[in-house]
Amino acid sequence: MQFTLDRLGMIYPSGKQALKNINMTLEAPNLIGLLGPNGAGKSTLMGLLTAGLKPSEGSISMNGSPLLSQEKELKAKLGYLPQTFGLFDELTVWQFLDYMSALKGISASKEAIRQAIADTGLEDKQKSRIRTLSGGQRQRVGIAQALLGEPELLILDEPTVGLDPQERIRFRNLFSRIAQNRIVLLSTHIIEDVQSVCNRLIVIKDGMLLFNGSPEELILLA
Ligand code: ADP
Ligand code: ADP
Repeated sequence: MQFTLDRLGMIYPSGKQALKNINMTLEAPNLIGLLGPNGAGKSTLMGLLTAGLKPSEGSISMNGSPLLSQEKELKAKLGYLPQTFGLFDELTVWQFLDYMSALKGISASKEAIRQAIADTGLEDKQKSRIRTLSGGQRQRVGIAQALLGEPELLILDEPTVGLDPQERIRFRNLFSRIAQNRIVLLSTHIIEDVQSVCNRLIVIKDGMLLFNGSPEELILLA
């Protein structure tokens, strides 16, 4: 699995240039932290990688071919947790994941759901209604739906927002656990969330790529 971003740029219809001349390659396996202040362009980059947005400049290729000609293949390989993600409060965790796996057209859904629940440590919550869960547990349900069907590319947009410091630490273990054999791209504006678990950091600001390298290299720069 490899993505190449070539002179990628995004200008919204409002005229706002959210990304400018982004060049990079993403390869599996990799746990990549996407860092940048609010408004830097993180969600825009994730929207382009999930083909939910179309670039206004440059291109993205997946395994050597244009991403936009492979939208169906991408859907099958992609797990995505958007920044604002609605959970169905009255469903139980299992019912919700069952619903999401039907939406994604996953066969052998029982096994996929069991695996996603195990990966996120939600075994004892699978029969609980989502409205009864804590903030951290709800975030884990969001991550669990992204994990359904063992995606090769996992994109998590600010998955630790609203969590207390102790929950954030637990989430770091979760990310390390789910990062094997795939690309995980994790956005945050808090460097502590990613510097210890990620093997690669990408920093963007004002739509521009400021840094792309290992956490150790970033520390040397600081
Ligand atoms: P981040 O995820 O890093 O907070 P975003 O990608 O959401 O940043 O936004 C980057 C910039 O693009 C911001 O200035 C934001 O206001 C602007 N922006 C985001 N979405 C839109 C949109 N749909 N239309 C116009 N401007 C947008
Ligand atoms: P509570 O809100 O009842 O304290 P928690 O969500 O904090 O529930 O924890 C419930 C169980 O899930 C605990 O056994 C805890 O160790 C485990 N747990 C919490 N966070 C994670 C995580 N990110 N990944 C895996 N297991 C977790």
